[in-house]
Amino acid sequence: MKRYALSVLMVMAVCAANGQTVQQKVNALLAKMTLEEKVGQMTQVTLDVVLKKDANLLPAADQNLDEAKLKEAILKYHVGSILNNSTEAYTREHWFRIISQIQNTAASSRLKVPVLYGIDAIHGVNYTLGSTLFPQEIAMAATFNPELARRAGEITAYEVRASYIPWNFSPVLDLGKNPVWPRIYETFGEDPLLASKMGKAMIQGYQGSDIGGKYNVAACMKHFLGYSAPLSGKDRTPAWIPDRYMREYFLPSFTEAVKTGARTVMINSSEINGVPVHASHYLLTDLLRNELHFTGVAVSDWQDIQFLHSRHHVAATDKDAVMLAVNAGVDMSMVPNDFTFYTLLLQLAHEGKVSTARINEAVGRILTLKYQTGLFERPVGNPADYPKFGSEEFSKVSYNAAAEAITLLKNQDNILPLKKNIKLLVTGPTADNMRSLNGGWSYTWQGQKTDSIAHDKNTILKAIQNKIGAANVAYQPGATFDALVEVKAAIDAAQKSDAIILCLGETSYTETPGNIDDLNLSDVQVTLARAMFATGKPVVLVLAEGRPRIITAINDLSNAVVTTYLPGNEGANALVDILFGDVNPSGKLPYTYPRYANALNNYYRKNIENNGAGDTEHGYNPLYEFGFGLSYTTFAYSNLHISKATITGNQALTITVDVTNTGTREGKESTQLYISDLYASITPDTKRLRGFSKISLKPGETKTVTFTKTAADLSFIDGNSKRVTEPGEFKVSIGGLTANFTYVDKTYKANTGGKL
Ligand code: BGC
Repeated sequence: MKRYALSVLMVMAVCAANGQTVQQKVNALLAKMTLEEKVGQMTQVTLDVVLKKDANLLPAADQNLDEAKLKEAILKYHVGSILNNSTEAYTREHWFRIISQIQNTAASSRLKVPVLYGIDAIHGVNYTLGSTLFPQEIAMAATFNPELARRAGEITAYEVRASYIPWNFSPVLDLGKNPVWPRIYETFGEDPLLASKMGKAMIQGYQGSDIGGKYNVAACMKHFLGYSAPLSGKDRTPAWIPDRYMREYFLPSFTEAVKTGARTVMINSSEINGVPVHASHYLLTDLLRNELHFTGVAVSDWQDIQFLHSRHHVAATDKDAVMLAVNAGVDMSMVPNDFTFYTLLLQLAHEGKVSTARINEAVGRILTLKYQTGLFERPVGNPADYPKFGSEEFSKVSYNAAAEAITLLKNQDNILPLKKNIKLLVTGPTADNMRSLNGGWSYTWQGQKTDSIAHDKNTILKAIQNKIGAANVAYQPGATFDALVEVKAAIDAAQKSDAIILCLGETSYTETPGNIDDLNLSDVQVTLARAMFATGKPVVLVLAEGRPRIITAINDLSNAVVTTYLPGNEGANALVDILFGDVNPSGKLPYTYPRYANALNNYYRKNIENNGAGDTEHGYNPLYEFGFGLSYTTFAYSNLHISKATITGNQALTITVDVTNTGTREGKESTQLYISDLYASITPDTKRLRGFSKISLKPGETKTVTFTKTAADLSFIDGNSKRVTEPGEFKVSIGGLTANFTYVDKTYKANTGGKL
């Protein structure tokens, strides 16, 4: 039996014990519903639509619902779902008031169907005050530790439910291939296997074994499909992705998520090959439903059905846009600012342009989700059920994740860890703010209020002061992100210090406001760095950034380089423990750190992109490779062994390697198995990550790491868009060791045709 069918069956079985299956309940309810009530279920509006006029100008505590607007939405338009917050994060009490009022209004409707509330809790429940904010997904990926992602998901689910919400628009499963794209930090990085495994773990954390549990929520895979690779790097701009390429790189994380039982999906806002995904029957129905067998709810992204008309120009009217999207496979429209979707879909249904069967299908899925999340029995949770909200226990997990994510990229002459009896200058625009540690989706959409809201959390400066005493720490900002600030004062302070902690990077952003024209780190930051190098004092470069900004010139002059990505509210504490050696770093890059702004190759580049000796023209010449990261100890790899020189059919190949801690302190190491297909009908990638395992070793200790692979793990998408494993020679590489084996398949017929 398919694994993903199981979770649905389990829910059905549970309900069967209470009399009826979910399916029977849904069918019974559907049979009672009018067309208007059904179309309303497919409509999702943003909270602002039902807030008091100008509520968003008021402090959060005063952002109250407008009773008349709420009644209009729920009783007149039968709205099935509401999302988001307004301009501020809310307290749990405020969420309780809002959600209770919404569900009370729903309970006064004819059929008493509860409203499904959805929220972007993408690194913790970021719109609830006092919550646990975790490292963003890119940093979670750098841990190479799916168990941390699962635990972070579990805690997030607890805190989302503690905000009385059962649906989380997370995880982002888009492949972080393009470092210019402003949402790369929301992804698990550039590798399909890493993204699949981290995504799976996070979904398991969110959903547990039953999304109706009071500590679980429905996950939302987003953004289906191919959102993360706009040609220009700018958000929501065109992508050209051949089907073969889409299936090779972008699809696997979603396939794994569907198998894991993710209950909802959000659609990619952009166009691919000239087709906006919201209008793509091929992607939303043929691929998602008929091939992947996804049975959950497909929700549009923000206003994207209207954009089929106004932005993409594939629909001449708003009404045509609704017809295209619903017939392509969108079940719920995140309209989100008005009720036009309701009115237009109703007209289309009356005209027979959207069939009753299609509407029943969409509404059936939405009602199923409402039953599965337990909304009918428990439309609002019980405040007393969540004593651990924002607890020390949860924040420790956030700290642990940051401690395993932060990546040591350079450590000349072992300048790190620093001694604690040192005098430091701390400088740079990311040194004393929480925005640069949390990124977007932190208290507000763009994260611009994080400094005032998370004022009780430690910035890098505060954490350093706590560690070695404020008297030993001089602070000069030196620069904002776009202007120098009293550099002379920073130089003077540097002269009186033993070393400089130079904190550079980015402020918070997401989506279109985060678009950039140049991946290079801003000029003023480079100028500040040069002024610091000129003092002759050792410089530890600390990066806090949502994407890998080009740092090549200053990397070479820095004595040490550490990247924190966006490590969350505990990130500075974890960083400082690493700087002073209380924690041994173990993070590994989840993306290729580029050396040049115009050479943005991923590690799985083609062989032609490799540089020959003295030849730097073909592209792949990164500053730091995917999977790279240093430790304060050293690891030696030996005894790489493969169980067979030849495999055939479904035979398993067992690969073992010994890893020894040859240094003087305990450390964690992410062992990474790469396999190269040496010759194939489609130009093979130079290498692909085919397995990873994070182990902990005491000094002198050796552990044997084992990977078991079959032909399926070596497969790729061929010229006919089919997944195949072609016979031939493969090369295994782990920790600098290599071994070759051959895959034999006598039945294989070479593919001579295929589309480009
Ligand atoms: C983003 C989604 C998000 C949605 C709701 C959109 O603009 O692309 O990732 O879930 O807004 O806030």
